[in-house]
This record gives sequence, C-alpha cells and structure tokens, in this order.
Amino acid sequence: MSRPNNFVILGGGISGLSAAWYLSRHVPSTTKITILEGSNRFGGWIKSKRVGEHKILFEQGPRTLRPNGIGGPVVLDMASCFVINKLNLTSSLHAVTKNDDASKNRYIYYPDRLVKLPGSSLLSSLKSVMINKFLLKTASSILLEPFVKSSKNYEDESIHEFISRRFDKSVSDILISALIHGIYAGDVKKLSVKSIFTRLYDLEQRHGSVIKGLLMGNKEAFLCQQDKDLLKIVNDENKELLAIMKDVSLYSFKDGIEQLPSAIVNDLKNRENVQLKTDNQVIKLEFGKKIKISTNDGVYEADHIISTIPSRELSHILPDKGTIPHLDYNPSVSVATINIAYNHPKILPVKGFGYLIPQSTPNNPYHILGVVFDSDAMPLQDEPPRTYTKLTVMIGGHYFNSISGKVDFPNKDILLQQSMEILEKHLGIYSTPLYYLVDIHKNCIPQYYVGHYSRLEELHYAIKKYYPNQLSVTGASYWGVSINDCVLNSAKLVLNLLSNSSNVVTGLERIDTKFRL
Ligand SMILES: Cc1cc2nc3c(=O)[nH]c(=O)nc-3n(C[C@H](O)[C@H](O)[C@H](O)COP(=O)(O)OP(=O)(O)OC[C@H]3O[C@@H](n4cnc5c(N)ncnc54)[C@H](O)[C@@H]3O)c2cc1C
Repeated sequence: MSRPNNFVILGGGISGLSAAWYLSRHVPSTTKITILEGSNRFGGWIKSKRVGEHKILFEQGPRTLRPNGIGGPVVLDMASCFVINKLNLTSSLHAVTKNDDASKNRYIYYPDRLVKLPGSSLLSSLKSVMINKFLLKTASSILLEPFVKSSKNYEDESIHEFISRRFDKSVSDILISALIHGIYAGDVKKLSVKSIFTRLYDLEQRHGSVIKGLLMGNKEAFLCQQDKDLLKIVNDENKELLAIMKDVSLYSFKDGIEQLPSAIVNDLKNRENVQLKTDNQVIKLEFGKKIKISTNDGVYEADHIISTIPSRELSHILPDKGTIPHLDYNPSVSVATINIAYNHPKILPVKGFGYLIPQSTPNNPYHILGVVFDSDAMPLQDEPPRTYTKLTVMIGGHYFNSISGKVDFPNKDILLQQSMEILEKHLGIYSTPLYYLVDIHKNCIPQYYVGHYSRLEELHYAIKKYYPNQLSVTGASYWGVSINDCVLNSAKLVLNLLSNSSNVVTGLERIDTKFRL
C-alpha cells in the first residue's frame, strides 16, 4: 500500500491540530495536509479569554494539564517545541508543585459542608479519616479489598458497580461520583469501568484485586510496546524538563491553555504543505478512488481522512448510514461554566484547588458539579497587583441530559444567579462579582457508556472492512477525553499511519493488539 499524498483532517480541536502537527513533522513536503474546521476558530473546547480592564484570564474549557502518565510527557515534548521557553521555564510555564495548597487541598461538598480529602500529610489524613464516617468506611474498604472475591473474565460494568463490589457502595456514591463529575461531568452509574478506569479493571483481571495488583504490579507491565517506545523517545529528548516536572502535579501556560493550540496553528501556518481552513463545516463524505469531502464552503479531495470530530457528527456525514456501527451510541453531556472574579484577594474560607460535589450530596437543586478556585490554582496568570479572587462554577453535565429526557438549559442570567447563591451558601461569599463570563458548552464531553470497548472493537472491524486505508478516527470520542489523551492518540495514529506495516490503520487498532490481557 503506497503512502497517501493528500491527508484531510476533519476538526481543528487539539486532536486535529496535533494530528496535523505530527504529520507535518514526518511526511515529505510534497504531501498535502488540510484541516477542515467547521467553526470560525481553532482549538475546539479549549478557550482562554482575558476580560475587563484588568485583563483577567478566564478559562472557559480546560484549565490544567498533568505532566504524568504517557500523555503527560508527550504533550510536554510537543509544548517544548514552541510554548515552553526551555531557557526561562517560569516565564512560560505555570506549575503547581506537589507542595502547593492547590495540590494538597482538595475538597468535596458532602453532605452539607466542605470536607478536605486525605493526602497532604499522614497526620492530617488520619484526622480527616477519623472525623468523617464515609472516609473511615473508605479506608476500611481499602484494607478489606484484597479479600473480596474477584470476578474475572466479565466484559464490562459501570464504575459504580465495580467500586461498590470491590470497595464499598459509599465510596462509589461519594468519592468516585465526585471524581467523575470533575472529569466527565457524567453519571457514575452509566460509565464504563473498562474504558474509564482501565487500570483498575486490568488489576482485578490480572491479580484478582486492585490493591494486591497495585502493591505487586509494575506500571510498565500495562503499557503496550508502542507506548513504551514513545515514552522512551520523549523521555530521552526532554530529560531536563521532565526532571523539573517531577515535582509538578498540574501546569498551564502564562496566557492559559489556549496558548498550546494557538502555537500549533502558528507553527503549521509556516509549513507550505499545510492548509488551515476555518468556517468549513463538513457535510458529506463520498468514497471512491479518491475521497470527496463537501463542506458548506467548497469541495475537497483526499487520499486519506483523519476524523477528529465527535463520532456522532461523523455518523451523520458518512455515506450508507448504518454500515459503520455505534458511532452515535454514546451521548455527550453539556456543561455550563460560570467564571467569576471578585474584587477581594482573600474571599475564600479555605485554600486549595476547589471542590467537587458527589451525586449523593442532598440539596443540589442547581446541579452544580464543582467549583474551581482559579486564583489559588494558577495565581500567576494575571498581572499584579492580584487583588481579586477568581472562581469557576461548573453546572449541568449528565443532570442537564436527564432533566426531562430532552436537554433544556437554564438561561445565562439564571446560571449566574444560581452560582452566586451557591457560593454564598457553600463558601459564605456575599460580594458582587467584578467580572463574570457565562457559557454553555453543548455536547462537550462524550460519555463512554458500559460496553464502549466492545463497541469500539466492532467499529474498528467495520472501518477496516468498508473504508480500508481511507479513514481513521481519533479525538475525545474514543480513548479518553483529557488533552493528554487526545494528543497522545493523535501522535500514535500518525505514527501507525506512517509506519511501513501493511496493516490497515483505523485509530482503534489497540483492540487488535490485545495488549490488555
Ligand atoms: C468545560 C471543560 C473542561 C475541561 N477541563 C479539562 C482539563 O482541565 N484538562 C484536560 O486535559 N481536559 C479537559 N477537558 C477535556 C478536553 O478539553 C477535551 O476533551 C478536548 O479538548 C477535546 O479535543 P478534540 O480535539 O478531541 O475535540 P474538540 O475540541 O471537540 O474539537 C473538534 C472540532 O471539530 C469541529 N467540528 C465538529 N464537527 C465538524 C464538522 N462536521 N466539520 C468540521 N469541523 C467540525 C468542532 O468545531 C471542533 O473545533 C475539559 C472539557 C470541557 C468541555
């Protein structure tokens, strides 16, 4: 199979931009790369905005990155090519170290107050465990987990079922549902343990117990060969940077996360073989010897398409609806973000990253998912004097989807009003905001419902059968929603596409490698 000479990438979020960037570094300059983005800007859900006279930075989408895992070093490697100034790290990279309050102090709101989660020191952990009944139950369920009978060789179950079975129902209802609100804005009773907590699922399958597996196992054993190779390359190339990042738990950039997609766009603009097109919503794909791509603005041709748009969108533009299964199975949830800045430096009763609200917290009528203390988490992104407090309230997620079966969003004034009422009740904040920004991100986070892994398997074989060597997929709909996951999966897809193997590359081939067991 000869290499494609003309790649078209659907979608200009971080997945599409990073796929284009990796392609542009590895293909000859005669190979054309085009990104077709439907909206009028690149970056997708990543949106950092400065507002008001004080040019305060508000993050409307993602706000922090993690340096760990495999995706962490891969994103750092990419960012170090243009966003991170290696000679003057602190001017470009804003990091939260493991000793900062924003790392040590994380809270949940349960049942009617803020509860600090254990973790900062043994003494304070013991104290919080002793005074909170549910934390005590969590601690004892961890000790007992190795003695719980394992359930091997089952296909999948919800995160709630898994955690309740292996630990305790209260751990699922309180701690894990809060965590899931923070990442997926989702319902812990519907999301797949195999796709979201893959490591926990694998530990039970391999060792019969999560805790036993953690104590005995080595992290590397869970990596496929491609991940190990990739990790070695980026580790070798970024030794100094990664050594500094060892003490970092979270980071962002001086002008917010959007600096990353903006820098990728600037880099791509300088490459003659790359075309960047906004305002080109793809409406139809037709597959022949070449692929014909119709947008609202024109018609394009490709040898190979990399789709990074949501899988549901892809299902609408493919020919023969139904030939490729499951693309529209998982819903996505919508999240409202309410960014607020107060003209007081010390308005919060506690210091830390913020708090999440579990599904089991009673009296959560406005469906708040959590509140981030932005001015504590990333204090240096604004110019001094920093005399204000910045917060982001997150509302909705799966609650919006289940209000009445159809999505029915409150208007922005009501969302602001509800946020202020909640901040008064939870944190005792009575002040009027200096600045605010309210946005509703419709269908922004895909939900991997139970059975996601098996559906991806069928999807993989269908793409292989019907569109071999013409279509591959990546992006948040498939293997993880974090920016690290999105960049890592785009990098792996491109490396697979450009390898000399004769295998058909769909973006879902880890199904084929059966690396898991
Ligand atoms: C509120 C919020 C907070 C988050 N917080 C974090 C965080 O702190 N850390 C983290 O790592 N992750 C976070 N995430 C997740 C992360 O931001 C996203 O999962 C990730 O940015 C998705 O990138 P993507 O490129 O796969 O998809 P998208 O960003 O959705 O990009 C897809 C692009 O395709 C375009 N498109 C769609 N259909 C078409 C079409 N038919 N034709 C052409 N173009 C089309 C869209 O306009 C869009 O630009 C957060 C997400 C949200 C919403």
